[in-house]
Amino acid sequence: MVDTTHPTPDPWVFSRVGEELFEALRKARPERIVLQVPAGLIRNATELVERIRTETGTPVVLATRACFGACDFPSRDEAPRADVTVVLGHAPIPNVALPRPTYFVEMREPGGNPTELAGLVADAELPRRLGLVASVQHLDLVPPLSEALRERGYDVRVGRGDRRLAYAAQALGCNYTGAEAVESEVDAFLFLGTGRFHPVGLAFAVDRPVWSLDPLQSILEPPIDRGDLIRRRLLAVAVARNARRWGILVSTFGGQNRSATALALQERARSRGLEAEILLFDRLDPRDLEGRALDAYVNTACPRIALDDGANYPKPMLTPPEFLMALGELPLEPYRFDTYH
Ligand code: SF4
Repeated sequence: MVDTTHPTPDPWVFSRVGEELFEALRKARPERIVLQVPAGLIRNATELVERIRTETGTPVVLATRACFGACDFPSRDEAPRADVTVVLGHAPIPNVALPRPTYFVEMREPGGNPTELAGLVADAELPRRLGLVASVQHLDLVPPLSEALRERGYDVRVGRGDRRLAYAAQALGCNYTGAEAVESEVDAFLFLGTGRFHPVGLAFAVDRPVWSLDPLQSILEPPIDRGDLIRRRLLAVAVARNARRWGILVSTFGGQNRSATALALQERARSRGLEAEILLFDRLDPRDLEGRALDAYVNTACPRIALDDGANYPKPMLTPPEFLMALGELPLEPYRFDTYH
């Protein structure tokens, strides 16, 4: 299991790779820096290593395994000689213990014309009571867009989430508690960002239509079909209901490890006469679960593995709340998103 007993250093946050970051690193005088770069920025990784090395005079090693979020920073074992981490493209997750001083570079995007975007929203006749949610890159657009929407008669709400979210309005694939905080006050949500990952997560978490707005391309996408998303998950719950032998998946990544939840679920299963075995992994691959004498899985790691990629695995894979639905300990409605707290 992951050791989370060490003290957590406070993270430092920068909006972009630049002099402010270099100055802070020079001041910290590390012996060695480990740099983590997400898939979207990987093309620039070699150049960034060189730039940070030149600007700080410190050796930089690149963490090359794929990373998915601020929940799976390089561990002590992965970079034993590094005494500082630089994480690009992610915001810190306040409730995650970090193994060494960590500098988050969020890569905030300054683009997007609030007046134009508000016009787009009004022309599409989105509901007047609107909640705003944004990916970290577009958080700086939230205040001016809220203002522009209010000038057009919108009642805009921005929620602050729990201790897993660093900012108001922030979307995290495993936690939309900011949106949930204002759900009862709005008739729809508007997500600022690109791709379907967050709109899908938000649609699981809140029972409101979720519109998506790409602020740079000025493209407004209609809501995804929440009913369809949930029907698919309830089908997986129904299939897994007859399972006798369960695998309970636990991640060793620092910000995805829910060992206590896994043990509690194992206890629930055993109390019902079911077999339940805990399986540890770091990065999960469908091949890791092939050929096992297990009927179904409950995944306590990133909830998006089961929700987005569950169909790639050889047996049904449920989130913890779905597992409790399969056991009959939670009702099927309302559907509960596996919010990682
Ligand atoms: S647990 Fe999953 S959704 Fe949450 S931050 Fe990590 S990768 Fe993203």
